[in-house]
Amino acid sequence: MYADIILPLALPKRTYTYSVPESVRSLVQPGVRVEVQFGRSKLYSGLVSRVHSEVPDYQVKAIVSVLDEISVVTPRQFQLWDWIADYYCCTLGEVMSAALPGHLKLTSETRLVFSNVFGDDFTTLDNDEYLITEALQIQQEITVDDARKILNKKTVFPVIQRLLTKGVLFLREDLQEKFKARKVSAVRFAEPYHTQRDLLREVMKDLHSKERQLEILMAFLTLEKKQPFVRKQELLYKADVSESSLNTLFKKGILVKYDLEVSRLSGYEDELVEVDALSEQQTQALSELAVQLPEKKVVLLYGVTGSGKTRVYVEMIRDVMRQGGQVLYLLPEIALTTQIIHRLQKVFGNEVSVYHSKVNTQERVEVWKAAVSGKPVILAARSGLFLPFQNLQLIIVDEEHDNSFKQYDPAPRYHARDTAIYLAHLYGAKVVLGTATPSIESWHNAQTGKYGLVEMPKRFGGLELPEIQTVDLREQMKTKQMQSIFATPLIESLQLAIEKGEQAILFQNRRGYSPMLECQVCGWNAQCKHCDVSLTYHKFSNRLRCHYCGYTQEPASVCPACGSGKITLRGFGTEKIEDELKLFLPNARVGRMDLDTAGSKNNLTALLNDFEERRLDILVGTQMVTKGLDFDNVALVGVLGADQLTKFPDFRSGERAFQLLTQVAGRAGRKLKRGSVLIQAFDPKHPVLQEVLLGDFRGFADRELKERHEFHYPPFYRLIAIQLRHKDPKVVHEAAAEFGKMLRRSLGDRVLGPVLPNIARIRGYYAEDILLKLEKSAPLLKDSKGLIRYSTEILTGKSGFGQVQVVVDVDPM
Ligand code: ADP
Ligand code: ZN
Ligand code: ZN
Repeated sequence: MYADIILPLALPKRTYTYSVPESVRSLVQPGVRVEVQFGRSKLYSGLVSRVHSEVPDYQVKAIVSVLDEISVVTPRQFQLWDWIADYYCCTLGEVMSAALPGHLKLTSETRLVFSNVFGDDFTTLDNDEYLITEALQIQQEITVDDARKILNKKTVFPVIQRLLTKGVLFLREDLQEKFKARKVSAVRFAEPYHTQRDLLREVMKDLHSKERQLEILMAFLTLEKKQPFVRKQELLYKADVSESSLNTLFKKGILVKYDLEVSRLSGYEDELVEVDALSEQQTQALSELAVQLPEKKVVLLYGVTGSGKTRVYVEMIRDVMRQGGQVLYLLPEIALTTQIIHRLQKVFGNEVSVYHSKVNTQERVEVWKAAVSGKPVILAARSGLFLPFQNLQLIIVDEEHDNSFKQYDPAPRYHARDTAIYLAHLYGAKVVLGTATPSIESWHNAQTGKYGLVEMPKRFGGLELPEIQTVDLREQMKTKQMQSIFATPLIESLQLAIEKGEQAILFQNRRGYSPMLECQVCGWNAQCKHCDVSLTYHKFSNRLRCHYCGYTQEPASVCPACGSGKITLRGFGTEKIEDELKLFLPNARVGRMDLDTAGSKNNLTALLNDFEERRLDILVGTQMVTKGLDFDNVALVGVLGADQLTKFPDFRSGERAFQLLTQVAGRAGRKLKRGSVLIQAFDPKHPVLQEVLLGDFRGFADRELKERHEFHYPPFYRLIAIQLRHKDPKVVHEAAAEFGKMLRRSLGDRVLGPVLPNIARIRGYYAEDILLKLEKSAPLLKDSKGLIRYSTEILTGKSGFGQVQVVVDVDPM
């Protein structure tokens, strides 16, 4: 008997055949993990994809051991993997690596760490388990290979598997930060009123002329009935009074403020709240969805920011739950903040599981199990697509336009939205694509009737969309009204907002202090040693840093090219904005949200929390601030450099600019009143800016689609980007020319390039790009992918080209 095994590696063959020893014959079946040797001595946990008796015509190794009693991967998951490997031109092993969570992937190099949770009662451990545990206790951390030496056995994975299950050890990669509880300011009655409510009557009487304070107490009593605790912000909002009235009640000793820890992931312990009644628009949307989904299977829900799409999802989720089905709610990783988790947990409590890259192993194991057992709601980043669902009935892809749904590196370079549609097809499930700024692809599919379309054009509660204005930077400069990087109207509006106790968001799509250190005399600028990009100056660390490879160096004070001392910084990023604000608005409390400050989930959460609780006035950020955040006190949004977005040389730059600007504008005035948005631009008449000002998505989409059609871009043509990489520029140049020739022989002028990419060298590797523009035809696509595979084999088989990397990206973003 033989088994075909998928290995978690980028190997050319789909599977590798091993023989099945007599002793484990009954255990080996598709979906079960086995321990196998690959290469000289490396051990891997591979996955059985097929069991058969076809004798291979080469010497095969035997399976070392079997790790699972039942399959960990279902037939439907296999189907999805196959589809991804085929559609996105990668190997099954690469899909497996992305799909399986760490605890299901063991290799010789996997690092094992002792878990002190287990305690020191080792009586439940058998001999082998004890030996490993003892070693771990002494060394804290060992590799799987070390474990094999300790036991002096051929097989170790089963022991490790058992120790993982018993909680004695965990895997190194899981040493990520856990979610910390977050703190919110809450309010309750001070003693004696807290315990003796009858004393309140006197208090109310005394306050009869203090209207605002009474208002607060009434609001408190109402809120208190509905929920286990009353947040300060919620109370202020409900009572619609200023903070000073509340402070008076604190001073009088009637109410007290306290810090409350709200748990995040570890189970939801608060009471559930009743869902809000549906608005008319929401009822309408739901009934249209109910009509269109059965026929179209995929429906685009185009609802402006603040239209109340989440409430619509909640209703649909409840519907699926009633029928015992499962819902996968997909969000871009960065938007998976506690805000949305909390909103869903308030309604569904512990029926909601959360799955993304910052969730640790233990929790991942839980979610994996939850999916198998049919748990109804799973809120996840794109990797949630790989969970073993039982009865998936609905997939919600929220913020469907977001390009971070596409995995860029490593392979599989899949798009979570498109993969979700295939996954849904496997289960007979429906898909809702929700967004305030549809992707051009989805919009086109809705326009041509391939997808359904449901619209929510109004904000919830009749609130108006923010008023958007541009500020002409050229004009501002001519009239000397620029205050450093800020136009006068922006500074004035910020000042005004802060005086009124309102908050503001400033958006600049560039982090660091300054993107370029330049010599004024000869034009030299500081470049990365490994990449063809300028180094960004970071003031806090006083270092120049490469945003592509992480290389850093000290800033030069003398030009290395001409020796002049006239070195200046050009351009600005979020760090500089934060810095300059301190000069121009010394009283403002400013926070910054970008990859540098929000590197860890906890920092990010703390920052959002500070802003939410109004401990900050202004939040400066990169595109992180545009994503799925809902603040209720933001009166003003400022965009500093809109031209960088509209003028970026890429066929998607118009689409991206429209999305980013509309999304960031949507953060203004979401609850109390209409917000305003100021966009600084050198070219305020740019068509995309004009369409953003008018909120004219249709106008934008029509114009964009016309251009895409004319220049043979998606959604009318399909793109496959191929990048060749090598350490030697000459080798990559020759290889790319050769590869281009091979493709051109069958595909003709559908092949563009090779050309040098925008950044011709990254991390020491030189690159050249080839682009395929293919008409929409299934056979052509299939042939082209076959040709790419075949040509790659031929190319890398030639002498001198063995080390050339061929990176294929289907539907590049
Ligand atoms: P979207 O996701 O479409 O941008 P949200 O779902 O965030 O919009 O809703 C915007 C605001 O309106 C939120 O603060 C939400 O709590 C509120 N809201 C939406 N629907 C209702 C409803 N039916 N009743 C009360 N409040 C609602
Ligand atoms: Zn110089
Ligand atoms: Zn670099």
